Amino acid sequence: MYEPSAEHDEFRSQVSRFVETEITPHATTWDRDDSIHPYPMHLFGQLGELGWLGVGFDESIGGSGGGPLERCIMFEELARGSAGTALGIYVHTSLATAALTTVANTSLRDQFVPSLLAGELTGAWAYAEPDSGADVTQVRCAARRDGDQFVLNGSKMYITNATFADVILVVVRTSGEPGRLGGLSVLAVDGESEGLTRSSMAKLGMRPSELAELHFDDCVVPADRLVGELDNGFRQCLAVLSQGRIFAGALALGLGNAALQAAVAHVGTREQFGGPLATKQAVRMTIAEMTVRLRGVRLLVYETAEKMARGEPYDTDASITKLVASETATWVSERCLHLHGANGYMLDSPAQRFYRDCKINEWGEGANELQREMIFEAVAKGYTP
Ligand SMILES: Cc1cc2nc3c(=O)[nH]c(=O)nc-3n(C[C@H](O)[C@H](O)[C@H](O)COP(=O)(O)OP(=O)(O)OC[C@H]3O[C@@H](n4cnc5c(N)ncnc54)[C@H](O)[C@@H]3O)c2cc1C
Repeated sequence: MYEPSAEHDEFRSQVSRFVETEITPHATTWDRDDSIHPYPMHLFGQLGELGWLGVGFDESIGGSGGGPLERCIMFEELARGSAGTALGIYVHTSLATAALTTVANTSLRDQFVPSLLAGELTGAWAYAEPDSGADVTQVRCAARRDGDQFVLNGSKMYITNATFADVILVVVRTSGEPGRLGGLSVLAVDGESEGLTRSSMAKLGMRPSELAELHFDDCVVPADRLVGELDNGFRQCLAVLSQGRIFAGALALGLGNAALQAAVAHVGTREQFGGPLATKQAVRMTIAEMTVRLRGVRLLVYETAEKMARGEPYDTDASITKLVASETATWVSERCLHLHGANGYMLDSPAQRFYRDCKINEWGEGANELQREMIFEAVAKGYTP
């Protein structure tokens, strides 16, 4: 059972103080500003300097040590300030950098990971395509080997950070037909590569983060940019995606906590029918239910992170964590907006931002229907909840 240590509490306070001064005061502006570069790029440098991008990464490759628990604390606190900002950091560290760290060969890893962890370079992870959403076997973006290089043709879409990323880990088909996981490889592609065009996509929520559509038109990538094995790289990255579900759960937890805090503050001050809304039983029951559900998520997130830290199998727990955390964040955010009434519907209210930010967590890191499929298969093989 998760028991936060004094070090964990101290780390949480440090991150929380940073968020209160550097993120929360700007969260509404970053959400509203739909200009070319809404992402607060300076955060990569700041978090790199503090050593927080490296939390949970080994010191031998430029990380700061610590483990999954510390990384969960960081994402929970960042998302409490701005979930969209946390999403950009999450993709950078826990997908792009984590894939290079665990799957790439030493030379590729050393070329990129220390700079990514220092915040000098930025990363993205690209598998989604127009015809490949929840079903990754449908990836069609193709890489043809030509001597000591690959030539890429095809598209990606909905790729976080890819408008600006220095290195994009692109899932490509190197053999076989769509419908199989085999034949999928991963390439570390320079964001400025010739033959790659990237365009920004406007979206409903998580607006400080940036989404890109990518087009590869005879884009040449050196063969030594192969991450993992040819035709098997994506399969090797599955463990990274499984880890990612724990951190995505922590992000959803932070977002849910922010919604709970906003709801408690509002019902404490808004008066109707002769007193604060907080004096009405139905409102009190709603706040209690939000609290109970988030408490359950907290236990799940940190217990799964602890399992991972102990080196025990955690794949099914990670699926459950991401599923419950994301659906709870959606429910809590909707209740938060409901309790705010028209006040929460206004664009300067954080309540409507939480409501728009939460939904992606149900599809990201594998749609929740797929998590349910995996959970069913695990139970059928003897997994005990
Ligand atoms: C803000 C944001 C950030 C993103 N960032 C990235 C990124 O960095 N990198 C990246 O590669 N992708 C990213 N994506 C895309 C993400 O990977 C996809 O949204 C996800 O894979 C689901 O695909 P889809 O949206 O095309 O939905 P679809 O696969 O078309 O699914 C549509 C609906 O059907 C449901 N569904 C799917 N399969 C089943 C099934 N077997 N049974 C029942 N229901 C099912 C889904 O849950 C969903 O409700 C991002 C998307 C958004 C919105």
